[in-house]
Amino acid sequence: MLDTWVVMPTCLPLVLRRCHTCASERFRPNGKFRVNAHHKLIDAWLLVLCTACGETAKLTVLERTNVRSVRPELLDRLHDNDAGLAADLLQDPVVRRRNRIALDWDNAWRLDTGGSDHLDAEATGATEATEATEAIDVSVRFAARIPVRPVRLIAEGCGLSRAEVEGLITDGKLVSAVRLSGKLSGDFTFTLKR
Ligand SMILES: [Zn+2]
Repeated sequence: MLDTWVVMPTCLPLVLRRCHTCASERFRPNGKFRVNAHHKLIDAWLLVLCTACGETAKLTVLERTNVRSVRPELLDRLHDNDAGLAADLLQDPVVRRRNRIALDWDNAWRLDTGGSDHLDAEATGATEATEATEAIDVSVRFAARIPVRPVRLIAEGCGLSRAEVEGLITDGKLVSAVRLSGKLSGDFTFTLKR
């Protein structure tokens, strides 16, 4: 049987960047933009606020760009402070590189296992009902490129402790084509054998 889990963002991630006022390293995007047009050139920034002192910092989105080369749809979203646009831009590696920022996704996502912990219940039931080895395949999809530890995800999704998950990996009962020990931010599948 195949289950599908989804890693879903629940809010915007924090932006890691040093504050010039208080030396804190975390900024919270509030989803607002500032747009400056001068003749035919346009600048646009995503505004972020220091989580410690509230100082505003600007992340460059457009820099002295000819307004005609900007998609009208993007201009509208910038002017409207479009909530989804901030999320899209923060996930854009070009924007992150240009602004020398990284993201902190802690507490900004959840795991959707498509219902309760039925996976755990079924797995337990299978062990009791039959001697035969039952395997469960789980496909994990990422709704956003959120770096998470697969061990943590699997523990949460299966209702196990991280140590138990690590034990299953060691015993060869939990297998995947990807390395389960590091961090991942893209779709993967794993098989749990009981
Ligand atoms: Zn600050």
